[in-house]
Amino acid sequence: MIKAPVSNELFQRAQNSIPGGVNSPVRAFRAVGGNPRFMASAKGPYMFDEDGNRYIDLINSWGPMILGHAAEVVNEAVQQAIPNSLSFGAPTRKEIEIAELIVSMVPSIEKVRMVNSGTEATMSAIRVARGYTGRDKIIKFEGCYHGHGDSFLISAGSGAITLGVPDSPGVTKGTANDTLTAPYNNLEAVQTLVDANKGQVAAIILEPVAGNMGLVTPAEGFLQGLRDICNREGIVLIFDEVMTGFRLSAGGAQQLYGVTPDMSTLGKIIGGGMPVGAYGGKKEIMEYVAPAGPVYQAGTLSGNPIAMAAGMAMLTYLKENPEVYTQLEQITGKMVAGMQQNLEKLGLNYTINHVGSMFSIFFTDKPVYDFESAKTSDTALFGRYFNAMLQRGVYLAPSQYEALFVSAAITEELAEQYVQANFEALQEAIKA
Ligand code: PMP
Repeated sequence: MIKAPVSNELFQRAQNSIPGGVNSPVRAFRAVGGNPRFMASAKGPYMFDEDGNRYIDLINSWGPMILGHAAEVVNEAVQQAIPNSLSFGAPTRKEIEIAELIVSMVPSIEKVRMVNSGTEATMSAIRVARGYTGRDKIIKFEGCYHGHGDSFLISAGSGAITLGVPDSPGVTKGTANDTLTAPYNNLEAVQTLVDANKGQVAAIILEPVAGNMGLVTPAEGFLQGLRDICNREGIVLIFDEVMTGFRLSAGGAQQLYGVTPDMSTLGKIIGGGMPVGAYGGKKEIMEYVAPAGPVYQAGTLSGNPIAMAAGMAMLTYLKENPEVYTQLEQITGKMVAGMQQNLEKLGLNYTINHVGSMFSIFFTDKPVYDFESAKTSDTALFGRYFNAMLQRGVYLAPSQYEALFVSAAITEELAEQYVQANFEALQEAIKA
Protein backbone atom coordinates (compact mmCIF):
# COMPACT_ATOMS: atom_id res chain seq x y z
CA MET A 1 0.00 0.00 0.00
CA ILE A 2 1.54 3.30 -1.12
CA LYS A 3 1.19 6.00 1.53
CA ALA A 4 1.79 9.70 1.07
CA PRO A 5 1.70 11.56 4.42
CA VAL A 6 4.13 14.27 3.26
CA SER A 7 2.09 14.96 0.10
CA ASN A 8 -1.06 15.11 2.22
CA GLU A 9 0.52 17.64 4.56
CA LEU A 10 1.87 19.72 1.65
CA PHE A 11 -1.57 19.74 0.04
CA GLN A 12 -3.15 21.06 3.25
CA ARG A 13 -0.51 23.78 3.39
CA ALA A 14 -0.75 24.60 -0.32
CA GLN A 15 -4.45 25.35 -0.06
CA ASN A 16 -3.75 28.31 2.22
CA SER A 17 -1.70 30.19 -0.37
CA ILE A 18 -2.59 28.70 -3.79
CA PRO A 19 -6.18 28.44 -5.16
CA GLY A 20 -7.17 24.80 -4.76
CA GLY A 21 -3.59 24.03 -3.75
CA VAL A 22 -2.36 23.63 -7.34
CA ASN A 23 -1.05 25.94 -10.06
CA SER A 24 -3.02 24.20 -12.82
CA PRO A 25 -6.42 22.58 -12.20
CA VAL A 26 -5.56 19.42 -14.16
CA ARG A 27 -3.11 18.50 -11.40
CA ALA A 28 -5.87 18.32 -8.78
CA PHE A 29 -7.34 14.93 -7.88
CA ARG A 30 -10.86 16.33 -7.43
CA ALA A 31 -12.44 14.12 -10.08
CA VAL A 32 -10.84 10.92 -8.81
CA GLY A 33 -10.81 11.52 -5.06
CA GLY A 34 -7.79 11.85 -2.77
CA ASN A 35 -4.95 14.34 -2.65
CA PRO A 36 -2.47 15.12 -5.39
CA ARG A 37 1.05 13.79 -5.01
CA PHE A 38 3.78 16.42 -4.70
CA MET A 39 6.74 15.49 -6.85
CA ALA A 40 10.36 15.84 -5.79
CA SER A 41 12.26 14.48 -8.79
CA ALA A 42 11.98 12.37 -11.91
CA LYS A 43 14.34 10.37 -14.10
CA GLY A 44 13.61 8.38 -17.23
CA PRO A 45 10.24 6.61 -16.88
CA TYR A 46 9.85 7.34 -13.15
CA MET A 47 8.65 10.20 -10.94
CA PHE A 48 9.40 10.25 -7.20
CA ASP A 49 7.11 12.05 -4.78
CA GLU A 50 7.99 13.87 -1.56
CA ASP A 51 7.34 10.65 0.39
CA GLY A 52 9.89 8.77 -1.74
CA ASN A 53 7.22 6.76 -3.63
CA ARG A 54 8.14 5.82 -7.20
CA TYR A 55 5.65 5.99 -10.07
CA ILE A 56 5.82 4.89 -13.69
CA ASP A 57 4.83 8.16 -15.36
CA LEU A 58 2.27 8.08 -18.17
CA ILE A 59 1.60 11.82 -18.19
CA ASN A 60 5.15 12.99 -18.83
CA SER A 61 4.39 16.60 -17.93
CA TRP A 62 1.27 16.31 -20.13
CA GLY A 63 3.38 15.45 -23.15
CA PRO A 64 6.72 17.29 -23.23
CA MET A 65 8.95 14.56 -21.78
CA ILE A 66 8.78 12.34 -24.86
CA LEU A 67 12.31 11.03 -24.16
CA GLY A 68 11.52 10.45 -20.48
CA HIS A 69 12.47 12.73 -17.58
CA ALA A 70 15.81 14.50 -17.27
CA ALA A 71 16.97 13.33 -20.70
CA GLU A 72 20.70 13.97 -20.91
CA VAL A 73 20.63 15.47 -24.39
CA VAL A 74 18.23 18.20 -23.16
CA ASN A 75 19.77 18.73 -19.73
CA GLU A 76 23.25 19.18 -21.17
CA ALA A 77 22.04 21.83 -23.63
CA VAL A 78 20.38 23.73 -20.78
CA GLN A 79 23.48 23.53 -18.60
CA GLN A 80 25.62 24.89 -21.43
CA ALA A 81 23.25 27.82 -21.97
CA ILE A 82 22.88 28.92 -18.33
CA PRO A 83 26.25 30.68 -17.83
CA ASN A 84 25.55 32.96 -20.82
CA SER A 85 22.62 34.64 -18.95
CA LEU A 86 19.05 33.52 -18.50
CA SER A 87 17.53 36.21 -20.72
CA PHE A 88 18.53 39.04 -23.03
CA GLY A 89 15.30 40.57 -24.35
CA ALA A 90 17.22 40.93 -27.62
CA PRO A 91 17.44 38.54 -30.58
CA THR A 92 19.76 35.53 -30.55
CA ARG A 93 21.22 33.10 -33.09
CA LYS A 94 19.40 30.18 -31.41
CA GLU A 95 16.00 31.67 -32.23
CA ILE A 96 16.81 31.57 -35.94
CA GLU A 97 18.13 28.02 -35.65
CA ILE A 98 15.02 26.74 -33.91
CA ALA A 99 12.73 28.62 -36.33
CA GLU A 100 14.57 27.02 -39.28
CA LEU A 101 14.30 23.61 -37.65
CA ILE A 102 10.55 23.97 -37.06
CA VAL A 103 10.03 25.18 -40.65
CA SER A 104 11.94 22.12 -41.89
CA MET A 105 9.86 19.72 -39.77
CA VAL A 106 6.23 20.96 -39.77
CA PRO A 107 4.62 20.90 -43.26
CA SER A 108 2.30 23.92 -42.78
CA ILE A 109 4.89 26.24 -41.22
CA GLU A 110 6.79 28.68 -43.45
CA LYS A 111 7.29 31.28 -40.71
CA VAL A 112 7.00 30.86 -36.97
CA ARG A 113 6.76 33.05 -33.84
CA MET A 114 7.87 31.68 -30.47
CA VAL A 115 5.74 32.32 -27.38
CA ASN A 116 5.75 30.96 -23.82
CA SER A 117 2.79 28.55 -23.67
CA GLY A 118 0.20 26.72 -25.72
CA THR A 119 -2.41 29.23 -24.54
CA GLU A 120 -0.45 32.14 -25.98
CA ALA A 121 0.05 30.25 -29.23
CA THR A 122 -3.68 29.65 -29.84
CA MET A 123 -4.77 33.11 -28.64
CA SER A 124 -2.27 34.71 -31.01
CA ALA A 125 -3.11 32.43 -33.93
CA ILE A 126 -6.78 33.36 -33.90
CA ARG A 127 -5.95 37.05 -33.60
CA VAL A 128 -3.78 36.75 -36.69
CA ALA A 129 -6.49 34.77 -38.53
CA ARG A 130 -8.98 37.52 -37.66
CA GLY A 131 -6.61 40.25 -38.76
CA TYR A 132 -5.83 38.44 -42.00
CA THR A 133 -9.45 37.70 -42.97
CA GLY A 134 -11.09 40.80 -41.46
CA ARG A 135 -13.71 38.47 -39.92
CA ASP A 136 -14.64 37.97 -36.24
CA LYS A 137 -16.07 34.50 -35.66
CA ILE A 138 -14.25 31.25 -35.08
CA ILE A 139 -15.43 27.64 -35.07
CA LYS A 140 -14.12 25.26 -32.42
CA PHE A 141 -15.19 21.74 -31.49
CA GLU A 142 -16.97 20.60 -28.33
CA GLY A 143 -14.51 18.92 -25.98
CA CYS A 144 -11.41 20.36 -27.64
CA TYR A 145 -9.17 22.43 -25.38
CA HIS A 146 -6.99 25.20 -26.73
CA GLY A 147 -5.66 26.73 -23.53
CA HIS A 148 -7.44 29.22 -21.32
CA GLY A 149 -7.87 32.15 -23.74
CA ASP A 150 -11.40 33.61 -23.38
CA SER A 151 -12.49 32.60 -26.89
CA PHE A 152 -11.76 28.94 -26.18
CA LEU A 153 -13.51 28.48 -22.84
CA ILE A 154 -16.73 27.56 -24.60
CA SER A 155 -17.52 23.82 -24.55
CA ALA A 156 -13.89 23.40 -23.51
CA GLY A 157 -12.29 20.05 -22.73
CA SER A 158 -9.53 18.98 -20.32
CA GLY A 159 -9.73 20.42 -16.78
CA ALA A 160 -12.71 22.56 -17.81
CA ILE A 161 -14.90 19.46 -18.43
CA THR A 162 -13.35 17.60 -15.52
CA LEU A 163 -14.40 20.39 -13.13
CA GLY A 164 -17.79 20.81 -14.82
CA VAL A 165 -17.10 24.32 -16.18
CA PRO A 166 -16.85 23.90 -19.99
CA ASP A 167 -18.20 27.48 -20.29
CA SER A 168 -16.20 29.53 -17.80
CA PRO A 169 -17.68 32.47 -15.90
CA GLY A 170 -15.64 35.59 -16.64
CA VAL A 171 -15.86 35.23 -20.42
CA THR A 172 -17.98 38.07 -21.80
CA LYS A 173 -21.11 37.38 -23.85
CA GLY A 174 -19.57 39.25 -26.76
CA THR A 175 -16.57 36.94 -26.83
CA ALA A 176 -18.72 33.82 -26.36
CA ASN A 177 -20.96 34.89 -29.25
CA ASP A 178 -17.98 34.94 -31.60
CA THR A 179 -17.12 31.32 -30.81
CA LEU A 180 -19.29 28.85 -32.71
CA THR A 181 -19.08 25.20 -31.70
CA ALA A 182 -19.63 21.94 -33.56
CA PRO A 183 -19.39 18.30 -32.50
CA TYR A 184 -16.00 16.74 -33.31
CA ASN A 185 -15.98 14.53 -36.41
CA ASN A 186 -19.19 16.14 -37.71
CA LEU A 187 -18.55 17.87 -41.05
CA GLU A 188 -22.23 18.49 -41.69
CA ALA A 189 -22.53 20.54 -38.49
CA VAL A 190 -19.52 22.62 -39.57
CA GLN A 191 -21.00 23.24 -43.01
CA THR A 192 -24.29 24.33 -41.40
CA LEU A 193 -22.45 26.83 -39.16
CA VAL A 194 -20.45 28.16 -42.08
CA ASP A 195 -23.61 28.59 -44.19
CA ALA A 196 -25.44 30.35 -41.36
CA ASN A 197 -22.47 32.73 -40.86
CA LYS A 198 -21.50 33.31 -44.47
CA GLY A 199 -18.39 35.48 -44.83
CA GLN A 200 -18.03 35.90 -41.05
CA VAL A 201 -15.89 32.93 -40.02
CA ALA A 202 -12.19 33.78 -39.70
CA ALA A 203 -10.89 30.41 -38.56
CA ILE A 204 -11.70 26.82 -37.81
CA ILE A 205 -9.45 25.59 -35.01
CA LEU A 206 -9.17 22.00 -33.85
CA GLU A 207 -6.95 19.39 -32.33
CA PRO A 208 -6.31 17.18 -35.40
CA VAL A 209 -6.26 14.31 -32.92
CA ALA A 210 -8.22 15.39 -29.86
CA GLY A 211 -6.55 14.65 -26.54
CA ASN A 212 -8.60 16.80 -24.20
CA MET A 213 -11.84 14.79 -23.98
CA GLY A 214 -9.78 11.64 -23.63
CA LEU A 215 -8.22 10.57 -26.92
CA VAL A 216 -10.50 10.95 -29.95
CA THR A 217 -9.15 10.31 -33.43
CA PRO A 218 -10.35 12.07 -36.59
CA ALA A 219 -12.75 9.96 -38.67
CA GLU A 220 -11.70 9.10 -42.21
CA GLY A 221 -12.12 12.23 -44.34
CA PHE A 222 -12.82 14.61 -41.43
CA LEU A 223 -9.60 16.63 -41.66
CA GLN A 224 -9.68 16.73 -45.47
CA GLY A 225 -13.35 17.74 -45.33
CA LEU A 226 -12.46 20.72 -43.11
CA ARG A 227 -9.61 21.60 -45.48
CA ASP A 228 -12.10 21.63 -48.39
CA ILE A 229 -14.63 23.81 -46.52
CA CYS A 230 -11.87 26.29 -45.57
CA ASN A 231 -10.60 26.42 -49.16
CA ARG A 232 -14.11 27.10 -50.48
CA GLU A 233 -14.96 29.76 -47.89
CA GLY A 234 -11.62 31.56 -47.42
CA ILE A 235 -11.45 30.41 -43.79
CA VAL A 236 -8.08 29.92 -42.05
CA LEU A 237 -7.69 26.28 -40.95
CA ILE A 238 -5.70 26.05 -37.70
CA PHE A 239 -4.42 22.75 -36.35
CA ASP A 240 -3.74 23.00 -32.64
CA GLU A 241 -0.82 20.59 -32.40
CA VAL A 242 0.22 21.57 -28.88
CA MET A 243 -0.17 17.90 -27.88
CA THR A 244 0.36 16.12 -31.18
CA GLY A 245 3.23 18.23 -32.58
CA PHE A 246 6.52 16.28 -32.69
CA ARG A 247 4.67 13.40 -30.95
CA LEU A 248 2.58 11.63 -33.56
CA SER A 249 5.41 12.07 -36.04
CA ALA A 250 8.32 14.49 -36.48
CA GLY A 251 5.88 16.66 -38.48
CA GLY A 252 2.92 16.09 -36.12
CA ALA A 253 -0.60 14.94 -36.93
CA GLN A 254 -0.63 16.99 -40.15
CA GLN A 255 2.16 14.83 -41.51
CA LEU A 256 0.61 11.61 -40.22
CA TYR A 257 -2.80 12.32 -41.80
CA GLY A 258 -1.47 14.16 -44.87
CA VAL A 259 -3.64 17.27 -44.45
CA THR A 260 -1.89 20.65 -44.31
CA PRO A 261 -3.61 23.48 -42.40
CA ASP A 262 -2.97 27.20 -43.01
CA MET A 263 -1.65 27.73 -39.48
CA SER A 264 -0.45 25.48 -36.65
CA THR A 265 0.01 25.99 -32.94
CA LEU A 266 2.68 24.15 -30.99
CA GLY A 267 3.69 23.68 -27.37
CA LYS A 268 4.84 21.02 -24.93
CA ILE A 269 7.58 18.97 -26.74
CA ILE A 270 8.80 22.10 -28.55
CA GLY A 271 10.31 23.34 -25.27
CA GLY A 272 11.70 20.02 -24.08
CA GLY A 273 9.98 20.68 -20.73
CA MET A 274 10.61 24.44 -20.61
CA PRO A 275 7.60 26.80 -20.96
CA VAL A 276 7.52 27.27 -24.74
CA GLY A 277 4.82 27.54 -27.39
CA ALA A 278 4.82 28.66 -31.01
CA TYR A 279 2.46 29.51 -33.82
CA GLY A 280 3.21 29.56 -37.49
CA GLY A 281 1.87 29.01 -40.95
CA LYS A 282 1.84 30.32 -44.47
CA LYS A 283 4.18 33.24 -45.09
CA GLU A 284 1.35 35.34 -46.44
CA ILE A 285 -0.57 34.99 -43.15
CA MET A 286 2.43 35.26 -40.81
CA GLU A 287 3.47 38.51 -42.54
CA TYR A 288 0.49 40.06 -40.71
CA VAL A 289 2.31 39.63 -37.37
CA ALA A 290 4.04 42.69 -35.84
CA PRO A 291 6.55 44.13 -36.57
CA ALA A 292 6.22 42.78 -40.15
CA GLY A 293 2.50 43.54 -40.15
CA PRO A 294 -0.27 45.19 -38.11
CA VAL A 295 -1.47 42.35 -35.83
CA TYR A 296 0.16 42.97 -32.48
CA GLN A 297 1.67 40.15 -30.47
CA ALA A 298 4.74 40.35 -28.23
CA GLY A 299 6.55 38.67 -25.32
CA THR A 300 9.32 39.86 -22.98
CA LEU A 301 10.62 36.33 -22.46
CA SER A 302 9.66 34.88 -25.86
CA GLY A 303 12.51 32.96 -27.46
CA ASN A 304 14.19 32.73 -24.04
CA PRO A 305 17.72 31.38 -24.52
CA ILE A 306 17.45 28.55 -21.99
CA ALA A 307 14.08 27.45 -23.34
CA MET A 308 15.42 27.62 -26.91
CA ALA A 309 18.45 25.52 -25.94
CA ALA A 310 16.18 22.84 -24.45
CA GLY A 311 13.78 22.93 -27.41
CA MET A 312 16.57 22.87 -29.96
CA ALA A 313 18.18 19.84 -28.32
CA MET A 314 14.84 18.01 -28.16
CA LEU A 315 13.73 18.76 -31.74
CA THR A 316 17.17 18.04 -33.19
CA TYR A 317 17.19 14.67 -31.44
CA LEU A 318 13.73 13.80 -32.78
CA LYS A 319 14.62 14.89 -36.30
CA GLU A 320 17.85 12.92 -36.34
CA ASN A 321 16.44 9.80 -34.67
CA PRO A 322 13.18 8.98 -36.45
CA GLU A 323 13.36 5.44 -35.05
CA VAL A 324 12.10 6.95 -31.76
CA TYR A 325 8.63 7.11 -33.32
CA THR A 326 8.72 3.44 -34.36
CA GLN A 327 9.86 2.50 -30.87
CA LEU A 328 7.11 4.60 -29.24
CA GLU A 329 4.47 3.07 -31.50
CA GLN A 330 5.66 -0.45 -30.78
CA ILE A 331 5.73 -0.07 -27.04
CA THR A 332 2.37 1.76 -26.93
CA GLY A 333 0.89 -0.89 -29.25
CA LYS A 334 2.05 -3.52 -26.80
CA MET A 335 0.47 -1.71 -23.84
CA VAL A 336 -2.81 -1.22 -25.68
CA ALA A 337 -2.92 -4.84 -26.89
CA GLY A 338 -2.28 -5.99 -23.32
CA MET A 339 -5.14 -3.81 -22.06
CA GLN A 340 -7.47 -5.23 -24.72
CA GLN A 341 -6.56 -8.75 -23.62
CA ASN A 342 -7.19 -7.80 -19.99
CA LEU A 343 -10.65 -6.48 -20.91
CA GLU A 344 -11.42 -9.72 -22.75
CA LYS A 345 -10.20 -11.86 -19.83
CA LEU A 346 -12.44 -9.92 -17.46
CA GLY A 347 -15.41 -9.97 -19.84
CA LEU A 348 -15.43 -6.16 -20.12
CA ASN A 349 -16.25 -4.14 -23.19
CA TYR A 350 -14.69 -0.72 -22.53
CA THR A 351 -13.42 1.44 -25.37
CA ILE A 352 -9.73 2.10 -25.97
CA ASN A 353 -8.77 4.85 -28.42
CA HIS A 354 -5.18 4.88 -29.58
CA VAL A 355 -2.86 6.59 -32.03
CA GLY A 356 0.96 6.55 -31.96
CA SER A 357 2.13 7.11 -28.39
CA MET A 358 -1.22 8.47 -27.09
CA PHE A 359 -4.18 6.48 -25.79
CA SER A 360 -7.20 6.54 -23.48
CA ILE A 361 -9.40 3.90 -21.94
CA PHE A 362 -13.03 5.07 -21.69
CA PHE A 363 -15.28 3.32 -19.19
CA THR A 364 -18.12 2.93 -21.68
CA ASP A 365 -19.02 0.18 -24.11
CA LYS A 366 -19.92 2.76 -26.79
CA PRO A 367 -17.45 3.92 -29.42
CA VAL A 368 -16.04 7.36 -28.53
CA TYR A 369 -15.80 9.78 -31.45
CA ASP A 370 -16.90 13.12 -29.95
CA PHE A 371 -17.64 14.89 -26.66
CA GLU A 372 -21.17 13.44 -26.26
CA SER A 373 -19.97 9.88 -26.71
CA ALA A 374 -16.99 10.53 -24.38
CA LYS A 375 -19.50 11.64 -21.73
CA THR A 376 -21.14 8.17 -21.72
CA SER A 377 -18.11 7.04 -19.65
CA ASP A 378 -18.59 6.02 -16.02
CA THR A 379 -16.36 8.62 -14.36
CA ALA A 380 -16.83 7.16 -10.85
CA LEU A 381 -15.46 3.86 -12.16
CA PHE A 382 -12.58 5.76 -13.77
CA GLY A 383 -11.82 7.32 -10.36
CA ARG A 384 -11.59 3.88 -8.73
CA TYR A 385 -9.40 2.63 -11.58
CA PHE A 386 -7.11 5.68 -11.32
CA ASN A 387 -6.59 5.16 -7.59
CA ALA A 388 -6.02 1.43 -8.02
CA MET A 389 -3.32 2.22 -10.61
CA LEU A 390 -1.75 4.85 -8.33
CA GLN A 391 -1.57 2.27 -5.54
CA ARG A 392 0.33 0.04 -7.97
CA GLY A 393 2.84 2.79 -8.71
CA VAL A 394 1.41 3.95 -12.06
CA TYR A 395 0.74 7.67 -12.45
CA LEU A 396 -2.12 8.41 -14.87
CA ALA A 397 -3.89 11.66 -15.70
CA PRO A 398 -6.42 12.18 -12.88
CA SER A 399 -9.42 12.51 -15.21
CA GLN A 400 -11.34 10.41 -17.71
CA TYR A 401 -11.12 13.36 -20.10
CA GLU A 402 -7.37 13.31 -20.73
CA ALA A 403 -5.06 11.26 -22.93
CA LEU A 404 -2.00 9.36 -21.73
CA PHE A 405 1.44 10.01 -23.19
CA VAL A 406 4.03 7.27 -23.48
CA SER A 407 7.73 8.20 -23.36
CA ALA A 408 10.68 6.52 -25.03
CA ALA A 409 11.92 5.59 -21.54
CA ILE A 410 9.17 2.95 -21.19
CA THR A 411 10.90 -0.40 -21.72
CA GLU A 412 9.29 -3.75 -22.68
CA GLU A 413 9.54 -4.77 -19.04
CA LEU A 414 7.78 -1.61 -17.82
CA ALA A 415 5.09 -2.09 -20.48
CA GLU A 416 4.49 -5.57 -19.05
CA GLN A 417 4.34 -4.19 -15.51
CA TYR A 418 1.84 -1.61 -16.73
CA VAL A 419 -0.37 -4.29 -18.33
CA GLN A 420 -0.29 -6.37 -15.13
CA ALA A 421 -1.20 -3.30 -13.03
CA ASN A 422 -4.01 -2.54 -15.48
CA PHE A 423 -5.43 -6.07 -15.03
CA GLU A 424 -5.41 -5.87 -11.25
CA ALA A 425 -6.72 -2.29 -11.17
CA LEU A 426 -9.61 -3.12 -13.51
CA GLN A 427 -10.51 -6.10 -11.33
CA GLU A 428 -10.44 -3.94 -8.20
CA ALA A 429 -12.33 -1.02 -9.78
CA ILE A 430 -15.25 -3.10 -11.10
CA LYS A 431 -15.72 -4.91 -7.78
CA ALA A 432 -17.03 -1.84 -5.96
N1 PMP B 1 -3.84 23.36 -26.89
C1 PMP B 1 -3.88 22.06 -26.58
C2 PMP B 1 -4.31 21.06 -27.61
C3 PMP B 1 -3.54 21.63 -25.30
O1 PMP B 1 -3.61 20.33 -24.99
C4 PMP B 1 -3.12 22.58 -24.35
C5 PMP B 1 -2.71 22.21 -22.93
N2 PMP B 1 -2.91 20.94 -22.54
C6 PMP B 1 -3.08 23.93 -24.73
C7 PMP B 1 -3.44 24.29 -26.01
C8 PMP B 1 -2.65 25.00 -23.78
O2 PMP B 1 -1.30 24.90 -23.50
P1 PMP B 1 -0.69 25.54 -22.16
O3 PMP B 1 -1.24 24.76 -21.03
O4 PMP B 1 0.79 25.42 -22.36
O5 PMP B 1 -1.11 26.97 -22.13
